[in-house]
This record gives sequence, C-alpha cells and structure tokens, in this order.
Amino acid sequence: MTWRATVLTLFPAMFPGPLSQSLAGRALEQGVWSLDAQDLRAHGLGRHRNVDDTPFGGGAGMVMRPEVVDAALAAADDGRPSVALTPRGAPLTQARVRDLAAGPGVVLLCGRYEGFDQRALDARGVEEISIGDYVLSGGEPAALVLLDACIRLLPGVMGAAESAEEESFSAGLLEYPHYTRPAEWAGRAVPEVLLSGHHAEITAWRRAEAERVTRERRPDLWLAHQSAIPRAPVVTRAVRP
Ligand code: SAH
Repeated sequence: MTWRATVLTLFPAMFPGPLSQSLAGRALEQGVWSLDAQDLRAHGLGRHRNVDDTPFGGGAGMVMRPEVVDAALAAADDGRPSVALTPRGAPLTQARVRDLAAGPGVVLLCGRYEGFDQRALDARGVEEISIGDYVLSGGEPAALVLLDACIRLLPGVMGAAESAEEESFSAGLLEYPHYTRPAEWAGRAVPEVLLSGHHAEITAWRRAEAERVTRERRPDLWLAHQSAIPRAPVVTRAVRP
C-alpha cells in the first residue's frame, strides 16, 4: 500500500525537491510513497487570494488566517494524522517518525511569516512538531526533513532491514563509530577489535562505544536511557498460586 504525503504550502514547487533523489526518489517512482503538494493560496480570500493578515495585539510580521488554513486541512482530511511544522511544537523524535511511517501517511502544514492563527490548529487538534530549537523562514524544509525520516523506514526503501535497527536513537543511544578500509590511514589505525573477527567482542565494543559517546555528547539522552532500563526482578522464592 502506498504511504501518502500531502503537503499544504505556499511554495508547492519546493516539493519533492531533494526527495526526488536517491532512496526517497526511487521509492517515489516505484509508488512506495506518493506526494501531493497543495498550494495554500488556492484557499486564499478575495480577488488577491489573501492568506495572511496583521497580528492582533500588534507586533511585526503577518499571521496566516484561520479560514485559509482550515479550508486546506479540510480538503486534505481523510483520517491521516495532520501535523503543523512549528518551532513551538514537540521536538521530532525517531519514535514519532517510526509511528508515522507505520501509518497510512501524513498531512503536513507548512507555515510562513510569523506562523498560523492558533485557532485553526486548535479547532482540528492538529499536532505541532518542531525539527529543532532554531527558526527557519518557513515550514517547507522542516516538512522535507520529517518526510525523509519517515520514507527511509517504509518497507523496501532501505537495503538491509537491520540498518535501521542499530542506528542512532533506535535504542535511545547514539551510534558507535564506523570504520572502513584502509586499516591504517594518515597514521591512524582502526580499533584492533574490529579486525579480530571475534563477533561477541565486536558487539561488546560497539555497545561500550555507543554508551560512551552518548554519555559524553548527550547527557540528556543518557539520563533517559538509564531510567528506561528495566530493573531485573528480585526473585526471593517461588510463590505457589
Ligand atoms: N514567529 C515564529 C516563527 C515563524 S517561522 C516563532 O517565533 O515561533 C515561519 C514558519 O517556519 C513557521 O510557521 C513554521 O512553519 C516554520 N518553522 C520555523 N522554524 C521551525 C522549526 N524549528 N521546526 C518546524 N518548523 C519551523
């Protein structure tokens, strides 16, 4: 079944953009996923198809009007989750990406200017997602990021199934470092254990490296990882029913 992406945007020509290349591009050609980029301006108001207005309460910039956003969401609504890309949203995680990829697809709403009138999002219970703590000029690059992350998880898109299982974030840890030939380069040798052919030792080394790099670089992930480890049940004696 085709995973369906609808993007509501003032700049539909930005799509599929980079997603027409490589893994995502091939999958798009093969019909693993489909893309429908809809121009928000089609729902604009009046002769000039206005989509925005000045903010109540004053301040710089323009706000996207609720009727315009609502009409676009209504036209796309078929039970797929709707997501607005906003810096105020919940940070995007691999867990959310996995859930979205496992569903029928997604409707993505891209903002411009100062963003959306909040009522349009609240009225339809639209989920708000941010791709990080920085501000883009529009939601389109954020939508491309979210789509890329989902598409690579769709069945048949990545070569080896296990390449998604061991990578960063899947176990709440960053990934261990990779090395390839030559075994020595510019005076730097590949860690000895990787050349040993000893699979159990390699697995243990990779695990230790993943833990070390997570502890050093991402104390936040490390803390979450540690509190998620289930405690081994303490069995004192067998209990008869
Ligand atoms: N005034 C807003 C920023 C608007 S940026 C604020 O301070 O919160 C314009 C649009 O870019 C937003 O409506 C949103 O769709 C998109 N955008 C900007 N940064 C983003 C981020 N980190 N994640 C997702 N979307 C973002």
